Amino acid sequence: VQDVIKIANRILHSFEEPFLLEGYELYVNASLGISIYPLDGNDAEDLMKKANVSMHWGKEKGGSTYKFYTAAMDKRASAELVLENDLFKAIEKNELYLCYQPQIDIFSKNMIGAEALVRWKHPKLGEIPPSKFIPLAERSGFIIRLGEWVLRKACEQLKRWHQNGFSGIKVAVNLSTLQFRQKNLVNMVMEILKETGLKPVHLEMEITESSAMQDPDFTIAILKKFTEMGIEIAIDDFGTGYSSLAYLKRFPLQKLKIDRSFIQDLNHKEESQAIVSAIIAMSRNLGLKVLAEGVETKQQFDYLKQQGCEQIQGYFFSPPLWAEKFEQIFLK
Ligand code: C2E
Ligand code: MG
Ligand code: MG
Repeated sequence: VQDVIKIANRILHSFEEPFLLEGYELYVNASLGISIYPLDGNDAEDLMKKANVSMHWGKEKGGSTYKFYTAAMDKRASAELVLENDLFKAIEKNELYLCYQPQIDIFSKNMIGAEALVRWKHPKLGEIPPSKFIPLAERSGFIIRLGEWVLRKACEQLKRWHQNGFSGIKVAVNLSTLQFRQKNLVNMVMEILKETGLKPVHLEMEITESSAMQDPDFTIAILKKFTEMGIEIAIDDFGTGYSSLAYLKRFPLQKLKIDRSFIQDLNHKEESQAIVSAIIAMSRNLGLKVLAEGVETKQQFDYLKQQGCEQIQGYFFSPPLWAEKFEQIFLK
């Protein structure tokens, strides 16, 4: 075990230096999972499986670390496997539904749109938050089907709302990393828009910084197609990933969504204030819209308004609501 720790540390240490790739300095994280013969297993397959489980455990704890296999990990891994299997059937069994959270123009206080957020009501376990099942769906690839389902439902819903006279609002849909890389993404989106009759200008796609930065040239190509169709692109959770500002300028996108964590710290952390003001100023200079996520208090609202942030989303105005409730409150 002592030898293994030494090797693991040496490997991790070697990743502290950046890699030089076509003139860019690239930092890469490594996560190591370790299983030991014969303590953890008797054959290669079993040992590899357990090392893999421990690696994922390490990644979830933030990566850049090594983890030895423990039985507790396996217990959770099998619980996740059960959940993953249930998730496969959740669409057919009508256990998934969408909630909508309004997005507000900070100056007029008008609702300009809503973000669609997926929910899972598990028959035995009750409500399971997306933070728990989206990563599972990503890992298994099921996110491709799930994402398509979400997009179709959101477009159908918005089309109905438009037909009922609320034609001014847009819907924002989240795209996960794997979805973003799926081959027929652009066609799939086009098909759904055609099928539901929703105009592209009423659809916004949210992608995270990290998925946009994974392969910037690929990102530019896809975003260009969306933008040409009239679909708006927002970068979600902005400030938490590592985006190169040079690329930010090159990406065809329309909006930055400042991550909730900075908004939460606004009242007591000066550095968060500095970051938020800087993001707002930068958006303005780049000609991008800017939205603050997770606004909960009047104090935060006032600060954002004073800084010139254009849009907000958060409990201060409304939590995500299921469609009927959303209609009752906002579409009367
Ligand atoms: P996100 O896209 O950044 O969505 C915003 C999250 O912040 C939502 O969590 C929302 O409920 C929460 N939130 C909004 N306002 C406030 C506030 O004032 N205070 C606090 N504490 N939280 C607030 P939710 O619905 O649990 O979703 C979490 C994440 O799961 C989303 O983050 C998104 O990354 C992912 N997700 C949700 N639905 C989908 C989906 O349909 N597809 C994909 N790929 N990902 C999804
Ligand atoms: Mg989002
Ligand atoms: Mg976000």
